[in-house]
Amino acid sequence: MFIFFNKIKQPAEPFKKIRCFVPMHAIVVGSGIAGLAVALRLKKKGFSVEVFEKNDYVGGKLTAFEQDGFRFDAGPSLFTLPKQVDELFELFNENPRAHFNYLKLDIACNYFWQDGTQLTASGNIEKFAKNVEKTFKTPAKSIIKYLKKSAFVYNTVAPVFLHMSLHKWTNFINLKTLKGILFMPFLGIFSKLNNYNQQQFSHPKLVQLFNRYATYNGSDPFQAPAVLQSIPHLEFNIGAYLPKNGMHDITKSLEDLAKRQGVIFHLNSPVSKIETSNNKVTGIWVNGELKSADVVVSNVDIFPSYKHLLSNQKAPEKVMSQPRSSSALIFYWGIKKEFAQLDVHNIFFCKDYKDEFDFIFQKKTVGNDPTIYINITSKKIKEDAPAGCENWFVMINVPGNTGQNWDEIIETSRKNILNKLSSILKEDISACILNESILDPRSIESKTSSYQGSLYGSSSNNRNAAFQRHANFSSKLKGLYFCGGSVHPGGGIPLCLQSARIVADLIPKS
Ligand SMILES: Cc1cc2nc3c(=O)[nH]c(=O)nc-3n(C[C@H](O)[C@H](O)[C@H](O)COP(=O)(O)OP(=O)(O)OC[C@H]3O[C@@H](n4cnc5c(N)ncnc54)[C@H](O)[C@@H]3O)c2cc1C
Repeated sequence: MFIFFNKIKQPAEPFKKIRCFVPMHAIVVGSGIAGLAVALRLKKKGFSVEVFEKNDYVGGKLTAFEQDGFRFDAGPSLFTLPKQVDELFELFNENPRAHFNYLKLDIACNYFWQDGTQLTASGNIEKFAKNVEKTFKTPAKSIIKYLKKSAFVYNTVAPVFLHMSLHKWTNFINLKTLKGILFMPFLGIFSKLNNYNQQQFSHPKLVQLFNRYATYNGSDPFQAPAVLQSIPHLEFNIGAYLPKNGMHDITKSLEDLAKRQGVIFHLNSPVSKIETSNNKVTGIWVNGELKSADVVVSNVDIFPSYKHLLSNQKAPEKVMSQPRSSSALIFYWGIKKEFAQLDVHNIFFCKDYKDEFDFIFQKKTVGNDPTIYINITSKKIKEDAPAGCENWFVMINVPGNTGQNWDEIIETSRKNILNKLSSILKEDISACILNESILDPRSIESKTSSYQGSLYGSSSNNRNAAFQRHANFSSKLKGLYFCGGSVHPGGGIPLCLQSARIVADLIPKS
């Protein structure tokens, strides 16, 4: 918005009164998906906006790289709620289709088990339910019922827990919130996801399949509340999507949009401090220089935001001590063969899911039989791999970095992964690898400043987790706001985009 300086000394007559409009200035620290979205939303509100990013690229976790003719999305691979991205173009009356395109996946995921069981989860719910009936002798209608309930829970929970600040009591005085509170006992806030899934399905493989949704925000289905049953609604009822130029196109197209709208980006610009005076934010320090601002939004993980950028302020200990979500170990393999039985998203389940999560969240290490996820964008984007080849993003869930011997874990896990994939796919996978890069919790932490390299901020392993994330604003420092995966409403692209929207809604028009 524009600020009108009505206190400017008025020139003497005969000059006419001069009105001086100066836009208020907003600084965004960090250019993750939430940082990009908040920069756009504040620009729309009339602010002049500058983004300071420590890396030499925009996007944080949502980035990509090339490796000997193969293109890899480095971080997120599953794209849901694409309308949230479209909306950012529409804010500026731009047609999203002119800049950013995506396709709906016909197959949401292929599931494999070590005993030879395979299930294709079609993006079409009826087909998916029929496949389940055939494979697990479970009535198709139980899947339809599960996904209907998933939609109900999502639609009841989202307006209360995801679409607004939980830290403004005035937000709770409306009908949607009252409905949410009224339905609380039916939303699964008081039971565990695994227990809920066991009540819905008698087949253990189906329980495992729906338990996996807890990992979509880095949590453990044996501890996390059953309200996470709402996540499959996004993937099945609304759909799983893939940007036509890969996940990184979300970052690229939003960066381009922001530049077109006049947002200024400063790369290689690590912010060292958020400056304050009289309980108000006044700017930031970057490369030894003070940059003034009316509003500062930190897109940096809340832990380093307080530890480093606000080191002279009292950190909220409860928020800082929240257990973190899981991290990931990823092998990016250029593969010299095509595998007809695989699609864009593929899961190779472990035998004992409880054991896998105990390793991650209790023992803080990795067991010998991790569930393996393979993402292959070249299945849909042919240019992502040379002819006859595939770009494999091979990921397992691992604990956050608390000083484990990662080199040892990587070596053992690589062997375990290769053995399991070779046995299920009946092919010597190590002989198919042309090139390799590795990302582990240490590198995730150093590249994005995510505390412990967690993918989704704090975990949702208890029913109060939603209330224990940091608010999207500072209650102590006027003009300071927070967005991104480590604050309300949580991690993952859809929630990060929501955090940006909440922040922009909180910032008053001048
Ligand atoms: C391997 C992996 C797989 C994932 N899979 C999925 C998925 O399939 N679907 C999904 O929705 N989500 C997924 N996620 C989670 C998702 O990527 C994140 O929740 C989301 O991208 C986080 O965005 P953010 O806005 O919080 O910022 P981040 O991406 O964390 O970026 C923060 C930015 O701040 C910058 N920064 C930090 N400190 C400073 C400083 N002092 N000065 C200036 N800049 C600074 C960093 O360099 C970085 O660019 C995955 C994440 C990873 C890593």
